[in-house]
Amino acid sequence: MCGIIGIVGKEDVAERLVDGLRRMEYRGYDSAGVCTVSGGELIRRRAPGKLSNLVLELARNPASGTTGIAHTRWATHGAPTAANAHPHATEHLALVHNGIIENFRPLRAELSARGRKFESDTDTEVVAHLVSEQVEAGKSPQDAVRAVLPQLRGAFALAIAFRAYPDMLIGARLGSPLVVGYGEGETYLGSDALALAPLTQQIAYLDEGDWVVITREGAQIFDKDDQPVSREITTSGASAAAIEKGIFRHFMQKEIFEQPTVVAQTLRSYIRQVDQSVALPQFEFDLSGITRITIVACGTSYYAGLVAKYWFEHFARLPVDIDVASEFRYRDPVLERGGLALFISQSGETADTLAALKHCKAAGQTIAVVVNVPTSSMAREADLLLPTHAGPEIGVASTKAFTCQLAVLAALAAYLAVKRGRMSRAEECDLVAQLLETPAQLNAALAHDDEIAAMAHLIAPARDVLYLGRGQDYPLALEGALKLKEISYIHAEGYAAGEMKHGPIALIDEAVPVIVLAPSGPLFEKTVSNMQEVRARGGKIVLICDA
Ligand code: GLU
Repeated sequence: MCGIIGIVGKEDVAERLVDGLRRMEYRGYDSAGVCTVSGGELIRRRAPGKLSNLVLELARNPASGTTGIAHTRWATHGAPTAANAHPHATEHLALVHNGIIENFRPLRAELSARGRKFESDTDTEVVAHLVSEQVEAGKSPQDAVRAVLPQLRGAFALAIAFRAYPDMLIGARLGSPLVVGYGEGETYLGSDALALAPLTQQIAYLDEGDWVVITREGAQIFDKDDQPVSREITTSGASAAAIEKGIFRHFMQKEIFEQPTVVAQTLRSYIRQVDQSVALPQFEFDLSGITRITIVACGTSYYAGLVAKYWFEHFARLPVDIDVASEFRYRDPVLERGGLALFISQSGETADTLAALKHCKAAGQTIAVVVNVPTSSMAREADLLLPTHAGPEIGVASTKAFTCQLAVLAALAAYLAVKRGRMSRAEECDLVAQLLETPAQLNAALAHDDEIAAMAHLIAPARDVLYLGRGQDYPLALEGALKLKEISYIHAEGYAAGEMKHGPIALIDEAVPVIVLAPSGPLFEKTVSNMQEVRARGGKIVLICDA
């Protein structure tokens, strides 16, 4: 994930572009760059590494101009060097890109055969040359872009500045998000509303395949068939304050501590206090005919879905298929009539999940989405929108969004169980009472912060860590292992506790900490037996359990 920002402004833009990049720093990146248009010139500055390197570069070599684009790169093609940093430029234009141009190889070969010289190893640079060729052939920037977009396969959000057109930018999106921001006599492009938060709250979300020409006066949007369209301008709730760290050391810590508040906030939309019943935000939505659920998601959201599979099957007695989106979309899944396809994504923009959603929609499934951004592409495609109210999640690793997803999925499982006559009124009231207790329980868990920090010091030197769980704690073990890998770069695996004896037990010795998730309940004793097996081999056990 990385960021794009573009401004057609009234005053010099370089500083504001860099400020916008700073707001997207949380997405992770390896280089950054800006390009402004001024006096018939493209002024380009790029630097590998931290944004502060670009700031230094701009201090040494300022870039004037009231129109410009900027980018933080998360390298997919080519090393994170200055030469591969965006913007990529030709004599006529400069361009930034998020995503991957999947067919860049044949395009590059054709361009090279026509004598074009490449400066980088990126997939992106082919787009700069393709559009440039059209401009050199005498086309307007609009016609040039229009001619090139159909040649590109893959996922992209693009922002393009033209040397001879200092008061205009062109943007395009397919698979990667891009928004238009409307200011006072200024217009913006950005990867998300958050990036534009200090500049404007007036945001239009581009649809898949849209492209847009922005000028100081506003934006002209075209759909994938090049027809002029209007996209609704909404007032974004993204406030600059939501992306401050406050008293916390980093965003992930802040977001972990927000869980009790945001889970309570989320549950409020799914529980009717008056009669202690579960309800959907779209009150009238009829799910009674559903015969099967297909869950599709990626990463942490996938693990939330895997937990929910246990709940849907146990409470609602509905058969559930679940898959990671990048696999689902390339196999040939059997989708029967009457199926509910459920997609889970924090951003609502995850490219593989969105593609899987479209596949299921075309196959006549009822589409439900659990997303944290109600204006996202997935939300707009859904029949049933099930929002989480986690607030902006800035940390790269999902935390509070995951627990809010679980809250929504638990409520949905109960709702389906009630509608299918599988849950009595008394059981519903009992489950609602338990759900309403979760914020307090989250608070109680967070009160162990110091002990957990001490334990982290014991685990930190390990090279490998195992997470074990049974039943619904098995997906939680997988999620724990994913989080450890992503955040601490320690190799970790999650296992179903009962699978230990079929191989992984060979790995256990004093050097391998084993984190066991075993709440009291019917599976507790079985999991404790697996703990004994670990102990017998000298493994260090960290037990996560209720009192
Ligand atoms: N694929 C492009 C590159 O590697 C863009 C990556 C990005 O989204 O930052 O430069």
